[in-house]
Amino acid sequence: MLTWKNILTFADNGNLAPDRAVRKTDQEWRAQLTDEQYRVTRQHGTEAAFSSSMCSLFEPGKYACVCCGTLLFDANDKFESRTGWPSFTQPIKENSIAYHGDSTHGMQRIETTCNTCDAHLGHVFPDGPVPSGLRYCMNAVALQKVASSKETATFGGGCFWCTEAVFQQLRGVLSVESGYSGGTVDNPSYKAVCEGTTGHAEVIQIMFDPEEITFKDLLQIHLSTHNPTTLNQQGADRGTQYRSVIFAHNDAQKELAEDVIAELQDAFDKPIVTEIKSFDVFHKAEDYHQSYYENNPNNRYCQAVISPKLAKARKLFEEKLKK
Ligand SMILES: [Zn+2]
Repeated sequence: MLTWKNILTFADNGNLAPDRAVRKTDQEWRAQLTDEQYRVTRQHGTEAAFSSSMCSLFEPGKYACVCCGTLLFDANDKFESRTGWPSFTQPIKENSIAYHGDSTHGMQRIETTCNTCDAHLGHVFPDGPVPSGLRYCMNAVALQKVASSKETATFGGGCFWCTEAVFQQLRGVLSVESGYSGGTVDNPSYKAVCEGTTGHAEVIQIMFDPEEITFKDLLQIHLSTHNPTTLNQQGADRGTQYRSVIFAHNDAQKELAEDVIAELQDAFDKPIVTEIKSFDVFHKAEDYHQSYYENNPNNRYCQAVISPKLAKARKLFEEKLKK
């Protein structure tokens, strides 16, 4: 967490390096921005107080630079300052904002700019609420609200008790549900799926935050934690319901799945047989299948099959685990 002391040090001695840089000509900024956005962000302007409804907006989500899209603030750090400008106690990352001494208008202030594209954002003051004590006083016109992003991935990799447990431990994974997909029967029972007559695979449906974990990460973890080279079989479990499959929710997921399979092929002795299919519908499995490993850790199957899989995943993807 940044404090006023950190801010003064950045302003005096230089700012942290940004993750990326965006540079455009004046002409390009003029073409991209509205007159008011241009005046504030590129000409160090200030919008009129109480001119934006963003001041009274407190829904979850993130705020990005209107010029370059870099995420700057989280709605969790926004507070009601009654100043007429949207106010935050902390930036989303320590290097997302740059600080500069500003002695214009007969005042000594600290100007804040987007560290990625140098857009003027506003000023920061040491009179904010605890714990940081900071008040980032921002021009609403310099910011754009970004809704919380969520994406869905649907994978089959054998018994869903196992695959669900692997993904539940990852940071950025918001939820994992066990169910059935790829078949022809609506709302199938576990018994029907196990008989192999429904066409469904046992799958898990993962909701994730792509800012914390990418679809590519999930693909790599999926393909490394089951055997993608055995057709319709995982260990002792045999049948089409145990097939290795990726149900793509869009073209981008389909292309990434093809790429990651090609990249990982060298790591396997046999050809990867994982199917890539367009996602159609997910049928959630019966309640007793949800979080099965968590609820039945002493079950013999869990001990024999899931625990070693989890240990392997924890070792391979240590930096992606929930703390
Ligand atoms: Zn920017």
